[in-house]
Amino acid sequence: MFDTHAHLNFKAFDKDRDQIIKKCLQENIWMINVGTNFFSSKLAVEIANNYSKGVYASVGLHPINISNLKSQNSKPQLKTQNFKKDEDVLEENFDYKKYKKLAENKKVVAIGEIGLDYYRRPKTKKKLEEFKSKQKEIFLQQLKLAEELDLPIIFHCRMAHQDLIELLKQKNINEKQKIKGVVHCFTGSWEQAEEYLKMGFYLGFNGIIFKLDLDEVIKKTPLERLLIETDCPYLTPPGFENERNDPRGVKFIIKKIAKLKGLSFEEIAQETHKNALCLFKINY
Ligand SMILES: [Zn+2]
Repeated sequence: MFDTHAHLNFKAFDKDRDQIIKKCLQENIWMINVGTNFFSSKLAVEIANNYSKGVYASVGLHPINISNLKSQNSKPQLKTQNFKKDEDVLEENFDYKKYKKLAENKKVVAIGEIGLDYYRRPKTKKKLEEFKSKQKEIFLQQLKLAEELDLPIIFHCRMAHQDLIELLKQKNINEKQKIKGVVHCFTGSWEQAEEYLKMGFYLGFNGIIFKLDLDEVIKKTPLERLLIETDCPYLTPPGFENERNDPRGVKFIIKKIAKLKGLSFEEIAQETHKNALCLFKINY
């Protein structure tokens, strides 16, 4: 089994990170810890370097961590006392050199999570335009880094599928950049899914499939393009032993997908594990 989108690099795991990773490895669950800014990317790399196999890292600047975007519409206050978490620290620009150096580590298997997020958007038209163009600019810089290092992308996209599809199509056609990657936490329509699949991308599914109706999209997505993820500590599947999700939550996702596709748990686990090894070029 392979959790292709985990955040054991987040503060929620500061106290028992290694214990959780060991439990996962014992159950043959591999993982990629995904960065959302420089701090969390660096930590993801450090964690991966502590294990000989089964734990990998992805580095990138998440669109909601781009700074001048949120002067007006900041993230909602978290209920816990640790409001300012390291993984939420904002960056004004994408520091190409600094990220490149980090991404050259051999445990880094992708650039991400990067993309577009229009969920908390400014209200005025002018600000909205600036907001979108800054996200696109930083996204394109990171695509360039992925191209330079020949790494696949982990895309984050929220309420922005049309813009992302447009941008990727332009890249593919005009610049002949053959981008590889996965659209993580896919929640779009089948039409949007088809656009991504046509461009050769994978779709990642997590616990959100228990909240939103993605049954048709999952049934229609070819098994060879499907990836399993948790996005832990978030999106805990119903019935999971803890309130905080961790990579062991993949079992619930696999179970539901197996049912939808009329295949066994083992088939889904094996095939999606192979898909992850293939996309992220992991030799074992
Ligand atoms: Zn994530």
